Order: sequence, then C-alpha cells, then structure tokens
Amino acid sequence: MKTDVTASVGDIHNKIRRRTFIKTSATAMLGAGMMQYCFNVFGSEGTMDGLALLGGKPVRKKGWAHWPHWVAAEDEQKILEVLRSGVWSRAGVVTSFEKAWAKAIGSKRCLAVVNGTNALVISLAQLDIGAGDEVILPPYTFIATPQSILMNGAIPVFCDVDPQTYQLDPKKVESKITSKTRAILPVHILGLPADMTAIMDIAKKHNLMVVEDACQGWLAEINGKKVGSFGNAGCYSFQNSKNMPIGEGGAIVSDDDAFMDRCYSYHNYGNAYGTAVGAVGGGTVMLGSKMRYTEYQAAIGLAMLKTLEPETIKRHANAEYLKSKIKDIPGIVPYAFSPGVNRAAFHLFPFRYKEDSFNGLSRDKFIKALSAEGVGCSGGYGQLNKQPFVKAAFQTKNFKRMYAPAELDYEAWLERTRCPENEKLCTEMVWLSQEKLLAEKEDMDDIANAIEKIHKHSRKLAKV
Ligand SMILES: *Cc1c(COP(=O)(O)O)cnc(C)c1O
Repeated sequence: MKTDVTASVGDIHNKIRRRTFIKTSATAMLGAGMMQYCFNVFGSEGTMDGLALLGGKPVRKKGWAHWPHWVAAEDEQKILEVLRSGVWSRAGVVTSFEKAWAKAIGSKRCLAVVNGTNALVISLAQLDIGAGDEVILPPYTFIATPQSILMNGAIPVFCDVDPQTYQLDPKKVESKITSKTRAILPVHILGLPADMTAIMDIAKKHNLMVVEDACQGWLAEINGKKVGSFGNAGCYSFQNSKNMPIGEGGAIVSDDDAFMDRCYSYHNYGNAYGTAVGAVGGGTVMLGSKMRYTEYQAAIGLAMLKTLEPETIKRHANAEYLKSKIKDIPGIVPYAFSPGVNRAAFHLFPFRYKEDSFNGLSRDKFIKALSAEGVGCSGGYGQLNKQPFVKAAFQTKNFKRMYAPAELDYEAWLERTRCPENEKLCTEMVWLSQEKLLAEKEDMDDIANAIEKIHKHSRKLAKV
C-alpha cells in the first residue's frame, strides 16, 4: 500500500516536471517568433511609439521600489540590539509584538507563530476541527488554506467565488452546508475583504465556527472593523512578499481567552499556558508542537508595523485612482468591493482581462506585453480544486483510518466542489504586485498608459 501511494506521488511529480518543461520551451519559441517579427517589420531598432514587446520604447523605464524596505538607521539598530542581547528565542520582544499586533487589529489577544500556514493549522486544531469534519472555503486562494484543513484531517469543501469581488460568495455557502460542516474559512484574498457581514450571519444561523484567512488582509476594514477580528480566529502571514514582511512569520488573533491559551500551549510543546520558554518538568498538558516566534522576527515585525498603516492607506488610494483610470478601457474589468469595505490591503491589484475586447490577444501575450512596457504582472492562481493534493491526502493511511471509503470518493468530491466562476476567474485574472501601489499618483498613470497602449496595438500583436 505504502509503495503504491509513493509511486503515484512520484508520477505526479514527473508529470508536473514535464508540463513545466513544455511550458518553458513553448515560451522560448514564442519569444523567438517575436524577435523575427520585430526584425522584419521595424528593423532591429523598432519604433518609438510601438509596443516594447515588438521593439518599441517601454512606457516605464525606471522600474519600481524594491521590496521589502526599511529605515536603515532606526530599524537596523533595533535588530542589532536583539542580536547583541543573545536572547533570540521567544521572550519580551515577541510579547511586545503580540500586544502591538492585537492592538492594530482591535482584538483582545494575539499569538505570534512561525508562519501563516501554521497560524491556520493551529486555529482549526484548537477549535477542535478534525476527522469527520467539513470546512467550507473559497477555491481562489493560496495553497496553504486548503492544506491547513487537510493537515487537521478535515475535508475542504470549495464554494465558488463572487465574480466581481473574487471572494467567497455568501449566496452559495448555504448550499454547501451538510451535517458534517463545522466551519467556514473565508479568505480576504488579494487583500480585498470577504463579505464578513453575510458570512457571520450564515455562521450564526448554522452554528458554525469561522476562521478568517487574513494572510493577505493586514489592516483592511469593513465598516471600520479590521478583517481577522470578525470570526472565532483571524490568521496573518508576514512572509517576505507580504505587505507586512518579516521573512517568515504569522499570527493568530482572537477575543477568546481559553482558545488563545490552548493555541499558546500547542505552539510550545503542549506545555501549560504560562510555562516559561526553556522550562522542563513543569507538566505537559496537551498535544502540542513547536511553532514559536524568535526575538529577531519580532524586532523586524515591530519595525515593519510602524509603516504598515500609512502604506496601507497609500496602496488603497493609489489602487482606487488606478481603477478609475483603467475601468473604461474596453476589456479591462477591475475589482469591486464587498459590502461595507472602507479600506482594502491590496496585496495585489487585480483586474479581469477580456481578450475579445483586445482583438483576441491572449492573456498570456497581454501579460508579456505589459511586462515589456515596464509594468510587471502575472496571471495569478490556477484552479486549486483540480490539483492532485486532495486526492493524495485521501490516499494517505491517516485519511483511510478516519473516513469510510464512500467519504473518500474523490470523483464525488470533485463534483461537489465544482466552481465554474472560479474557473473563469483563473483564466481572466491579471495581478500587479503591491509595491507598485506605493509609488506616486503619476506612476499609476504609467500603468494606465501602458494598458491603453497595448489595447491600441492589440490587433497587430494578436497576429504575431
Ligand atoms: C501567504 C498566505 C498563507 C500562508 O502564509 P505563510 O506565512 O506563507 O505560511 C496563507 N493564506 C494566504 C491567502 C496567503 O497568502
């Protein structure tokens, strides 16, 4: 049995490797074709007003700010202090960081943990979600969200997204609820808040737990209340690319003291809450692991927290301005907010790209063309509900012992978790990364101009 599973996982790895190779070679061929076109039509110099991808001058040449950034004089001093103290394992600086983060979110308690993934894993575990339970989540998210459910032995049930906000669609949640459903796991994906008002109403009505994946939602607000503070627990990530970067790091917030005590205990080997770090023989009271933060992580976090609020305000203002500049370009459909959102975190600036309005120019080519104009972008997430990891989890020894065979019918699960809106979204989405939104208003004009330029030349580029 064991070798079977290993063999099938090996097969999957090989398939993915082959697919990546084919993709890379195809891109190289497309590039070669374009070079030839550019040489034939414009000669080797290209044209001044033509598309950068075809040898013209890019709209933007000066690039964008590097990420992450920090204030050398102040921040490096604080981190050096921690380094020189020799106290690197969890102590006072971590506690200060937790107090500061709880205050920033408006929650009673915060526990800093190794990363956002484990913030989710711990939260679900300490709300007693595990074998036999189902958790409803959106498919438009980072892989860590469904993995945190599977890691607890529960079954993820994908529920489709709202096509305008890209968030879990509350109108579809109730149809996914069964007698096994224990929790809803909304994700504030791209930093745009999910519709927490509607989701909390559904949770109350059906007596379900709510764990918010706010790993992209730092300081975003609905009616002035921070995301992550609505549910039973809110989880954050401070990974290097995130708007609040520490390299690695995560946090759980909640108003529930008993829950937070259990989370603390779990993240410190299961030792009783209040047991000092490094203490032995004090009595280990529950199942636990080790997910502790370090003092230098907390020092970097405190430094980053100083600029998070002004930067969040700036990203939001620039995003709304950029949206106003591009919303009337045919084929460009920017994000919409869920009800009551007064501030988004904009980990990414998202819009849908409709190739029909660009003379059939494919999204892949649009992305290459926009990147060539000096506005790097990407197509974002693929369809999570169709990737092989759920099937692989169903084939593990643990799942086979926790569930009856009928409950692990993968084809039935696939059918139940079909998400047609998400499928469309994954083929139309374009993302701009957050640090672009920290530039000035006139820099947003560069982005809008680059998109307009591609629209103007789309007929020509579509034929290349
Ligand atoms: C980054 C992220 C996570 C995981 O956080 P890590 O700190 O990378 O473990 C979970 N969910 C979402 C939506 C994320 O973007």
